[in-house]
Amino acid sequence: MFNSWDEVKKEQESVARILTNSIRLNRVSHSYILEGPKGTKKQGVAKFFAKTLLCTNRNGLNPCNECHNCTRINNSTHPNVFIIDPPGKIIKKEVISNLIQELSKASLENGPRIYVVVDADRFNQSSANTLLKTMEEPGQEVYQILITENYNSLLPTIISRAETIHFLPINRKIIQNHLINLGINESFSNIISQHTSDISRAEKLSANQTSIDIYNLVIDIFRNLLIKTESSIVSLYQADRLLKDSENVDFFIDLLMFYQKDIINYQLSYDGLIFVNQKEDIAKLSRKVTKQKARALLEEMLDLSGKLKYNINLQLAFNKLLISLERGYKYATSSSSDSI
Ligand SMILES: [Zn+2]
Repeated sequence: MFNSWDEVKKEQESVARILTNSIRLNRVSHSYILEGPKGTKKQGVAKFFAKTLLCTNRNGLNPCNECHNCTRINNSTHPNVFIIDPPGKIIKKEVISNLIQELSKASLENGPRIYVVVDADRFNQSSANTLLKTMEEPGQEVYQILITENYNSLLPTIISRAETIHFLPINRKIIQNHLINLGINESFSNIISQHTSDISRAEKLSANQTSIDIYNLVIDIFRNLLIKTESSIVSLYQADRLLKDSENVDFFIDLLMFYQKDIINYQLSYDGLIFVNQKEDIAKLSRKVTKQKARALLEEMLDLSGKLKYNINLQLAFNKLLISLERGYKYATSSSSDSI
């Protein structure tokens, strides 16, 4: 939960600017659509906005966080703030009818009433029609905030009656710094921030032992390519459980690709490694393959990554990739002579 508009601004500059301006100039719109990728805290901003509208002891534009209204919004118990997030793929007409009935009653509390619809792209035609009626006559002090990750699936009639505010994917550096502040080391934070721009997923990954195991496995796989007597195919069998979860598999293939890109970038004397603490191994590996071969191996990884959503035999597919890596790096016949 946000504590000040400055905190919102740090993550979503233009969102904070638009909303604070509307409050400052007394031009708050009755309907907003908050649109943007997963993990950009749209619901957090909606709640903070509600708190700003309802706080009885505001300090400038910032809600006090202590008054009766603020504390009840923090605990999700304020009778004027409705969060509409029914389970299922569709928001049914009854849900919206009930809401309208609720809003038509005299409110128990003074002040504006705000309702937030989560994943507002779930309206079907009839619930959308019901909603549209309220959008036309929202009532004096009723504000609606529709949240979506799939802006293109919203009905045009809904879009045209609201003010849309776009959330941007969170900047990598912000995610990395956020993880470092949580006590995650710099190298691992960097890798996670390259993998996802969803801040809550980044937090989850960084706290998860399996992701650390995957990270270490990838480092081992490439290190073993430098040792003729070691093979990673065995360790992949031992890591079988990693392949049982599709999010882990995505993370695994991403990390393999990051490492392979590091090798290519090193060959090109480019100075932005992702596996910052593996520079020595990366340097050695970069001398073992031609640029062409290094690219071909990356393409093989990309190809596998594209096939992951289909029902393929993962064990077999990753084994095949590891064999290609071993052939490429370990048993390369020509090396330094044609690598430059
Ligand atoms: Zn307050």
